[in-house]
Amino acid sequence: MQEVPLTASCYNKPARPFTARRLEFDRAARWRRGLGSAGKMLAGALVTAFVPVVHFVAVPSFLVVAVVLGVSRLKQESLLVSIEGSCPACDKPVSLSPNAKTRFPWTAPCPDCGEFIKLVEQEAEPA
Ligand SMILES: [Zn+2]
Repeated sequence: MQEVPLTASCYNKPARPFTARRLEFDRAARWRRGLGSAGKMLAGALVTAFVPVVHFVAVPSFLVVAVVLGVSRLKQESLLVSIEGSCPACDKPVSLSPNAKTRFPWTAPCPDCGEFIKLVEQEAEPA
């Protein structure tokens, strides 16, 4: 688990530090995840292959999803798990739920005050 320092800003408020936690996947982990999720879908295709009528739709669907999911997991290098800090507008602690497609800069509403918080990755300190 890697911590990513972020800067959170709201309109007309001073910026605040936020922290995101990110899971990094090496090559082996990406293959494991890709083959694992594709395998589950292939198992679904195998099981539904013996169900009359349903198999006409279910088997091709499971096969397509197996390829799409497997390739997307194989290409995914990291996954944001959580984003936390205190809201620049209302000072309350904020815990945001990123999804697999979340990239920075990212704007999300504060769950408390509804103010939009813009999150930007902090630049690495020059050595
Ligand atoms: Zn707020």
